Amino acid sequence: MLMMKLLLILAFSGLVAGFSSNSSDSFLPKLLLVSFDGFRADYLQNYDFPHLQNFIKEGVLVEHVKNVFITKTFPNHYSIVTGLYEESHGVVANSMYDVSTEKHFSDADDKDPFWWNEAVPIWVTNQLHGNRSSAAAMWPGTDVSIHNTTPSYFMNYSPAVSFEERLNNITTWLSSSSPPVTFATLYWEEPDASGHKYGPEDTKHMSSVLKKVDDHIGDLVHKLKMLGLWKTLNVIITSDHGMTQCSKERLINLDTCINHTQYTLIDVTPVAAILPKMNVTQLYNKLKVCNHHLSVYLKEDIPARFHYQHNDRIQPIILVADEGWTIVINETLIKLGDHGYDNALPSMHPFLAAHGPAFHKGYKQRTIDSVDIYPMMCHILGLEPQPNNGTFGNTKCLLVDQWCINLPEAIGIVIGALLVLTTLTGLIIIMKNRQSVPQPFSRLQLQDDDDDPLIE
Ligand SMILES: [Zn+2]
Repeated sequence: MLMMKLLLILAFSGLVAGFSSNSSDSFLPKLLLVSFDGFRADYLQNYDFPHLQNFIKEGVLVEHVKNVFITKTFPNHYSIVTGLYEESHGVVANSMYDVSTEKHFSDADDKDPFWWNEAVPIWVTNQLHGNRSSAAAMWPGTDVSIHNTTPSYFMNYSPAVSFEERLNNITTWLSSSSPPVTFATLYWEEPDASGHKYGPEDTKHMSSVLKKVDDHIGDLVHKLKMLGLWKTLNVIITSDHGMTQCSKERLINLDTCINHTQYTLIDVTPVAAILPKMNVTQLYNKLKVCNHHLSVYLKEDIPARFHYQHNDRIQPIILVADEGWTIVINETLIKLGDHGYDNALPSMHPFLAAHGPAFHKGYKQRTIDSVDIYPMMCHILGLEPQPNNGTFGNTKCLLVDQWCINLPEAIGIVIGALLVLTTLTGLIIIMKNRQSVPQPFSRLQLQDDDDDPLIE
């Protein structure tokens, strides 16, 4: 097994060396990054995905991707393409306010580069590398001029554009562009939209929505095969976050605790961002006793594990609702499914599947962090990564050109080595015992020899 791995790695490095000495564009590694918004990790166990399961069979699967707090769409999509926690890349929510510039951001008003420029997404780095371009059939930020750069090919965001049109565009750009498109993104709003509408526990509606998502994956694979891209293109299918069931029985009404004239609400639920208009401590003290299902933090006390503190766009008071609870302001109409909660909750996690020449076939891994995806993508594309919070080592077992021993293998090797050692030790002891026990006849003979002269 180990010898096989060594041979594979040697063979692959030989191939890479061969490729890099060849200047032809066709040998440049290519990567398509796909996101199905709100694809909760355990949908894979609870629903049928014939097309996705075929994709996984010939590739790799990471069952749970631990995403970043807050578990919302814009922040998590930006973490995937930068390898940074939200406090470091600056897109800290779907709704933001910057006190010093008095600028507002929302998912419907996201075009100001100011919000994106604290980080450099991989499509910009890829394009600046030279003789290669990036393309995007949507992905948060791809229609914004970040560091004065957009992907060479992109679509302005519109939820009205069909999956088919996005797929046609991205595959056309991937197959015939000069300089070649080596990094591409494809984004689709489902199953997030339906997850909000019905809630993830509505299996009747969710199974038909998830069947459509699986059909889109089937269309994607079919199209890549038709265009001759399937064998050479690396494809990652992942998501930004999961989804949990909400209920109108689980509401936290802020109006029962604080007066709305005392603060500005920048973001509502399940993480509320509060900008006080009165003394911060006084407002904090009122909120602290507001509801048992609400964690209330002053900005400086936000737990370190959230990596959500060191940015001006994070407001002075943050409220985090317990799983399934909704923060409201005298409203009763709520979504039946939501996300944004604590990123330690399994319901908030997406999955990751990948296929292509860079990835093993039929390998499964329990977990990685979503910030680990960025250094892995840079490695595949041969790009120097920007400073990031990811760990490349966490994804090594997914990649054919990396030396990696996973836990079961390591345990197997240790047990094997112990068995060999025990057997050897046993053999040595038996051999030694055999040599030291006197043979009965030799002793008699010796006595005979000794005695003989005496008798004589
Ligand atoms: Zn959503």
